[in-house]
Amino acid sequence: MYKIRVILTLVLIALTAKQSFAEGYENFKVAVYCRAYEVEKMSDLNWLETVWDELSKQVHVDKVYLETHRDLLMVDEKTLEAAIDFFRDRGIEVAGGITYTIDESNNFETFCYANPDHRAKVKEIAAYTARFFDEVILDDFFFTNCKCDLCIEAKKEMSWTEYRLKLMKDAAVDLVLNPAKAVNPDVEVVIKYPNWYEHFQGLGFNLEEQPALFDGLYTGTETRNRTGNQHLQQYHGYTIFRYFENVKPGQNRGGWVDTGGSNPLDRYAEQLWLTLFAKAPEITLFDIRQLDSPFRENTRAAWQDTGTSFDFDEMKKPLRQEDGSMYEPTKFSRVAGYSLEVVDQVLGSLGNPVGVKSYKPYHSTGEDFLQNYLGMIGIPIDIVPEFPEGEEMVLLTESAKYDPQIVEKIKNQLKSGKRVTMTSGLYKALQGKGIEDVVELVVTDRRANVKEFSAGWGPTTSIDREIIIPQIQYLTNDSWELVSGLDDTNGWPILHRADYSTGRLFVLTVPDNFIDFYTMPAAVLNSLRQNIAGDLDVRLEGPAEVSLFVYDNHSFVIESFLDEPVTVNIVLSGEYKQIADVITWEAFPGTFREAFVFRNRKFGKDVNLFEVILKPHSFKAFTF
Ligand SMILES: [Zn+2]
Repeated sequence: MYKIRVILTLVLIALTAKQSFAEGYENFKVAVYCRAYEVEKMSDLNWLETVWDELSKQVHVDKVYLETHRDLLMVDEKTLEAAIDFFRDRGIEVAGGITYTIDESNNFETFCYANPDHRAKVKEIAAYTARFFDEVILDDFFFTNCKCDLCIEAKKEMSWTEYRLKLMKDAAVDLVLNPAKAVNPDVEVVIKYPNWYEHFQGLGFNLEEQPALFDGLYTGTETRNRTGNQHLQQYHGYTIFRYFENVKPGQNRGGWVDTGGSNPLDRYAEQLWLTLFAKAPEITLFDIRQLDSPFRENTRAAWQDTGTSFDFDEMKKPLRQEDGSMYEPTKFSRVAGYSLEVVDQVLGSLGNPVGVKSYKPYHSTGEDFLQNYLGMIGIPIDIVPEFPEGEEMVLLTESAKYDPQIVEKIKNQLKSGKRVTMTSGLYKALQGKGIEDVVELVVTDRRANVKEFSAGWGPTTSIDREIIIPQIQYLTNDSWELVSGLDDTNGWPILHRADYSTGRLFVLTVPDNFIDFYTMPAAVLNSLRQNIAGDLDVRLEGPAEVSLFVYDNHSFVIESFLDEPVTVNIVLSGEYKQIADVITWEAFPGTFREAFVFRNRKFGKDVNLFEVILKPHSFKAFTF
């Protein structure tokens, strides 16, 4: 089948080779966000023209968001109208934006929704903005962290979480949506949620009730450097988009990335790619000021010159203009433009993303962001807000304890002949709450330091340093260790198996420090991938910090976040004998591997292996 596609694609490449930069990207729209501070500057149209002229030479832009308010700065009517005309005259779509902050620089100070003056101001801003735009987006800050005396009095006996969830749901209707729609019945109001989804409920972001009230959602997919203050894993930028898409299907309107924490510069490109691997229809680049700032030569990584997906020198090459002149790019806008051109080449070959469904109840927390660490070890993840029906495997982390029916749901899944993977953190949380009906084991408070592992029949493998795991205690022959962590001659489960009815439960031991998953040997990771994500068409074998993105049309992407080149194996079932790179359409044959046989019994399936070498911070996309 791919041979036909090869020919078609070659024809398409020939037809589109002369496509000009101005025509835009094939698989997504690009928007640029403009903060109120910069929109205010647009009163000087010469300033705007200079900035815009440079920016649009470096990245194709389809749309701008013009912010009317931030930090109590309201942009005046005349300036807004002139800016809107400026962009419309150039064929750029225009939408509005609101940032509900009092003072962003003061620990992101937001409004007090118990204060009548603040409430009036919030309402006034919504109504004012809706006069100018048919689409308005709320930037990250429609939450409250206020604990003033008014708030303390208003919350009464409720927890802060309960109080703020209700407060902000009502504020969305009374202070934003109704006032905006009263002024402009056509206005669509989109709420952009930031990247810290695990903690939303505590600040009043209400994922259960707000999405139905707003016309659309938008997703903060920025993760920046892992060492930064949020410590988010790269895979997070992909999962969060899919999660919010599952919260309001078809109405997650885009992903949003800023230029912060992007050293080396490859980190910025990765954030854009991950957003688009999640199939975001639009990407918002924050913001016009950041895009207008120069990229720095000292963000050129050590691995440049080795043919990585982000090629620093290729990025800054002069661009031929329509009048034939050459333009030398120097700004962040070119980093965006180049990175988007790179990923646009593969997106058209990818279908809808699929992954292991991980149920995260609304307003839940526990083992924060663990799914993203699992994504980083090559387990494709799809977080869903309801317990999924009919899935062969459901992955549950500690946050699932927020569903009071969770034990019953686990039992029903197992009784229907299907499987569940639950983490040691969830098991511990459910101890004494009925989970012993499924399997009697104890996640103890004892810890073990392990550096040697056993995964099945092969020899044990060891790592350079010890990792700390909880000790799980179980009843011999009632349940079984599939993967073990060893300290000298003592050992404990890393992956544990318990059969129940016609189904199978796996308990996954989570290291005290989640990042220790990345230090586990390939043999352990391969077993985790096979047991947890083995139902997907594609599987990965190799070390951690390589992610796998699987789509429903026999295509997949692998991306490495390592600083060195890495060799991985792609595992496909025996009938798929070749894979083809979707950019070069070069085909690669696989190597047949027969399933392990013991006493005439076959364990697993016969497969074909495809060895792929990935350069640092690089991706490849294939079809089969
Ligand atoms: Zn307050």
